[in-house]
Amino acid sequence: MSYQHLDSAGNAIILPVNKVVCIGRNYLDHIQEMNSVVSEEPLLFMKPKAAMCSMHQPILIPSNRGECHNELEVAVLLKSPLKNANEDEVKSAIWGLGLGLDLTLREIQASLKQQGQPWERAKSFDNSAPLSGFVPLSQFSDLDDVKFSLSINGETRQLGHTALMLHKIVPLIAQMSNEFSLEAGDVILTGTPKGVGPLHDGDRVEVELAQHFVVKTKVGVE
Ligand code: ZN
Repeated sequence: MSYQHLDSAGNAIILPVNKVVCIGRNYLDHIQEMNSVVSEEPLLFMKPKAAMCSMHQPILIPSNRGECHNELEVAVLLKSPLKNANEDEVKSAIWGLGLGLDLTLREIQASLKQQGQPWERAKSFDNSAPLSGFVPLSQFSDLDDVKFSLSINGETRQLGHTALMLHKIVPLIAQMSNEFSLEAGDVILTGTPKGVGPLHDGDRVEVELAQHFVVKTKVGVE
């Protein structure tokens, strides 16, 4: 199924589909639940184009590769390129915000971490970044005051608030653009709060971007 960025009403957004740039360890409560340490510089990794899929379709998780965990994150869609950008340039390059899942094969990740290897096998597989529709930037009064949540089978598992990010959205994207060029159609996943855990075939998943939308979907096995 080919993926295209959508707005929250389900209309196509005329932007290319490029890469996903992610930050790990951006909320203290998640760092603590993973027994990880705070890193001074943001911990960055990427997911390729084939990772992107619509969250409005069933979320397909790989079978026989160990636990696949939910990580619900604020997703930022860029409408223009950024390189060595300042914060004003970042603000004018943002199309809007939505939600994304940074699906993670947790057992594979643990073994990669142990071996000091990069995380792509755990995080960059096909369909590892289900994305919601995006809400235009003008609909947000403060990017550091955005609340979001995820429930599984009616039980709240994750509650997030961008005020609690260690690296806030706009300075984070500016910093990413010092490391590598960002392009129109790139999506930034801004880190997960605590509450990660395994997904199972048939789970009912509900995600909410407070005051903007709710997406109801379910989990299937590939
Ligand atoms: Zn994540």
